Amino acid sequence: MIEAKYYKQFNNHVQCHLCPHFCVIKNNELGKCKARKNINNKLYSLNYGKSCSMAIDPIEKKPLFHFMPGTKTLSVSALGCNMQCIWCQNWQISQSNDTNTYELSPQKVVDTAISNDCKSISYTYTEPTVFYEYVLDTAKLAKKNNLKNITVSNGYINKKPLEELYSYIDAANIDLKSFSESFYKKYCNASLKPVLETLINIKNLGIHLEVTTLLIPGLNDSSSELKNLCKWFVNNLGKETPLHFTRFFPMYKAKHLPPTDIIRLKEAENIAKSFGIKNVHLGNI
Ligand code: SF4
Repeated sequence: MIEAKYYKQFNNHVQCHLCPHFCVIKNNELGKCKARKNINNKLYSLNYGKSCSMAIDPIEKKPLFHFMPGTKTLSVSALGCNMQCIWCQNWQISQSNDTNTYELSPQKVVDTAISNDCKSISYTYTEPTVFYEYVLDTAKLAKKNNLKNITVSNGYINKKPLEELYSYIDAANIDLKSFSESFYKKYCNASLKPVLETLINIKNLGIHLEVTTLLIPGLNDSSSELKNLCKWFVNNLGKETPLHFTRFFPMYKAKHLPPTDIIRLKEAENIAKSFGIKNVHLGNI
């Protein structure tokens, strides 16, 4: 447990400034992500150096299709998330703060990547924003050892911490979960606008960016919403930025919904291409 970055102290509470929730946290209470706790009016990161999962993945699995293709990446994660998406594939670790973890220092992460011939480290599976300090220290060490750093993120992070962290990040795959404020509010307990700002900020920093939209039948896959998304995408991220549409499978609190029809994925691909997006990829099929 280490003191968290990006918070302010008040008389009887602290306010976390890491992500757009700006949680006001009283003594002995947790933020929405369950990964940061106020202890005697100091905010602590609870998941520093505590990994809940680690694996060696092909980089294409992140998915990143246009960054160091054919290489292996070491994926690491720690408990917690600042969104509560009802279809989360990793809810056992993203929505929990008492699942088993194991000590894994930043140095050990880097050593493991090197000894397994991984060219990069990916902060993934849960939300890297909520293990910010762990990612930051590991990414700094990774850089010194000629490893690349990758985030797979929901993009829900404030600009200042983003700029500090992303000066060490080489590539990112950011979820754009829908193009609707009400969708983000109802199904993710978050909001769309900060995610759009993050996408633009990452692009402006010159970091390799790919974007993923999971198509969920009836919730975010209407043609009008996809057209709005693609129009914004082209105007703000450009036609060269890769866009992944991935297939939904019933999961967690969304078991009542059907899997995405492959025909719908192809229609989404055609919509994106009609807006001039050059690299459109379909996933989970
Ligand atoms: S990082 Fe966690 S504690 Fe901080 S504002 Fe976001 S949800 Fe709240």
